[in-house]
Amino acid sequence: MENNRRVILCKYGEVALKGANRPTFEAAMMRELRRRAKEIGAFSIWAAQSTVYIEPDDADAASRVDEMYDEAAHVFGFSGICVAAVADKDIGDMRRVAAEYIPERISGARTFKVEAKRSDKRFPMKSPEIAASVGEAILDIMPDLSVDLRAPDVVVTVEVRERGAYIHAGQERGAGGLPAGTNGRALLLLSGGIDSPVAGYMMMKRGVAVDAVHFESIPYTSEQARGKVLALASILTDWSLAIRVHVISVTHIQEVLRDVCDNDYFTILLRRFMMTLAEKTARHTGAQALVTGESLGQVASQTMQALTVTDAVVSMPVFRPCIGMDKEDIISASRKIGAFETSILPYEDCCTVFTPQHPKTRPELDRVIEQESRLDFDALCREAWDSRKVYYVRRGCEPREYDARRDG
Ligand code: ATP
Ligand code: MG
Repeated sequence: MENNRRVILCKYGEVALKGANRPTFEAAMMRELRRRAKEIGAFSIWAAQSTVYIEPDDADAASRVDEMYDEAAHVFGFSGICVAAVADKDIGDMRRVAAEYIPERISGARTFKVEAKRSDKRFPMKSPEIAASVGEAILDIMPDLSVDLRAPDVVVTVEVRERGAYIHAGQERGAGGLPAGTNGRALLLLSGGIDSPVAGYMMMKRGVAVDAVHFESIPYTSEQARGKVLALASILTDWSLAIRVHVISVTHIQEVLRDVCDNDYFTILLRRFMMTLAEKTARHTGAQALVTGESLGQVASQTMQALTVTDAVVSMPVFRPCIGMDKEDIISASRKIGAFETSILPYEDCCTVFTPQHPKTRPELDRVIEQESRLDFDALCREAWDSRKVYYVRRGCEPREYDARRDG
């Protein structure tokens, strides 16, 4: 057992640059790793020198290091992660472990070099000597390999640290960003589409805790459409904290808009209702900002004029992380976060109910306000708000509906 110890090394990203607040960020990253580790097995997790170490405590956990690695790759705050083999701080053991562990990791490579880092200065050999000796041990096993110090195919790293020597070949990118829940709370307007889950993910990546609101229009939209949105929220929780999803019916609002307003203003008016209801939800859940998946010019309601008219109805900041992204960029982000296959399931969204043939691309605020005066905006909002349902979506669990009055 002692002979093939493995440890996952997670290197800090931006957090390494934080000053006095750094302990807060570190604590959040550790909390997130521990929460995930608990579901897998017994792991010791500790931090030293801008790296978090995750080491299995028993044989069962040791057999699940790959799963733990996958979890660590979903934790924001780390720029790089890798699995290292652990050797005793003894050059003979380092050589033996490197010879046993490294060859299968670098099987395709033709050239390599070894880099040693010695943060434990009590270790008697200097870094270049360690590197030369470990390199030699690898060459003994892989005689076709050659050393290239300037542009090697792979770099093998030996880190001699407090608790042992860690040997690995390269690291993968971590999730990056800032740790979950260290940067306020926002409310995501979550449709069943491709863009809004990506927008939510991007905010999460900046350390923001995200709750969501979804607008539906039953019977014009279906139960399946709601299920799809909850599934998308669940996918987002792979990356961050639990999400409360508020589901609000806008059926009546849409029917009134259809009956009393000019058809070409229907969409912009509906969006102003959505923003108003979202802001109300945000105040209720303690969120400080709204988030949408809008991208400039993508559709009529996403021109600069339309966005200005939309935002004029709320006083909270509205963040639109996808604003400068092309659809293709958004799709590749969607695939990366694992949402795409769910986003493209063919269920209707309330935005497609009663939509006009020719929506206004340059709506005028005066005309919008005039049309809103034809209806009782506040009463319609109140009625919609009272209809809301709230779901608690936690990673790996079925979404659970709970009593909205208990919330906030
Ligand atoms: P998405 O792919 O996110 O659905 P979209 O390109 O279809 O976006 P719109 O339908 O115009 O664009 O919606 C713009 C934004 O408004 C969405 O990204 C989302 O933030 C919000 N939104 C749209 N429909 C809903 C809804 N039914 N519930 C909650 N938010 C919505
Ligand atoms: Mg949409």
